[in-house]
Amino acid sequence: MTKSISRRRFIGRIAAGGGAIALLHTVGCGGGDALTCDSSGVDSAGQQTRSALQYTDRSPDPNKKCANCVLYQGTPTACGTCAPVPGPIHPDGTCSAFAPRA
Ligand code: SF4
Repeated sequence: MTKSISRRRFIGRIAAGGGAIALLHTVGCGGGDALTCDSSGVDSAGQQTRSALQYTDRSPDPNKKCANCVLYQGTPTACGTCAPVPGPIHPDGTCSAFAPRA
């Protein structure tokens, strides 16, 4: 009987730990759908350039994401940068200057 209770507690603790790890992954790393790239600090000239190049944080075409652009500097899980578009660049974003990686 005592062993059965211990097993239950053990399994419960493992389940709770797994849930905590999953929550940390979602909140802590900033990757995936939770990632936002705040461009509010970009000056007006930079905002005009972003707008002129039709930059968006969400590419409507999965084949034309910033993470797949030769001009993108960064990783697929964090905000990066690129030369033509001032400010933070979302890896899932795109713009009219998209150039596919070879
Ligand atoms: S040039 Fe455009 S598509 Fe390429 S990384 Fe910069 S914003 Fe994204």
